Amino acid sequence: MAPTAALAARDASGHLAPLTITRSTGSYCQFICADVAIKILYCGICHSDLHIIENEWNNAMYPVVPGHEIARVVTEVGKNVTKFKAGDRVGVGCMVNSCQSCDRCDEGFENHCRSIIFTYNSVDPDGTVTYGGYSRSVVVHERFVVRFPDAMPLDQGAPLLCAGITVYSPMKYHGLNAPGKHVGVLGLGGLGHVAVKFAKAFRMK
Ligand SMILES: [Zn+2]
Ligand SMILES: [Zn+2]
Repeated sequence: MAPTAALAARDASGHLAPLTITRSTGSYCQFICADVAIKILYCGICHSDLHIIENEWNNAMYPVVPGHEIARVVTEVGKNVTKFKAGDRVGVGCMVNSCQSCDRCDEGFENHCRSIIFTYNSVDPDGTVTYGGYSRSVVVHERFVVRFPDAMPLDQGAPLLCAGITVYSPMKYHGLNAPGKHVGVLGLGGLGHVAVKFAKAFRMK
């Protein structure tokens, strides 16, 4: 890919500054025909972004380009891509790849795969470090791209890619999506307030 403009943290100060990155597609060689090239339009900010750029989890691999609530438009697709075409409105969340063949991946729990590749600050199989959504474009395997509903604005929908799914998934998994059930939410932060919105949509009390 061509060089891509990005914002990166170079140390634990918490400041981001412009950086030109080159997106690696090396790790996707085996899947490259199923890759989707995407122009990034919006990206949310998650508290995990702050933890990582300030190295509070002691795992920052500087320079860090954060951002894993990414709303985008597809610009190009590989010849084996079946789910998307150029112009589609899509999102990418916290992960961009996994082994795609273990029991966890087969069950749709790629987030528990031992070979998960996070959207940024993660090491690709080719040894390069992934960069997140605070940049102009990215290439992602279609398995890790989701479609935005036509009626959902990209800017307002972007936070669903991390804050949203982080509460939506357990609510669905544990049956907390039934009308009339009671639900309690501790803490109305980035995730909690979205949980309240989901609970309302599920017609919970
Ligand atoms: Zn997040
Ligand atoms: Zn796996």
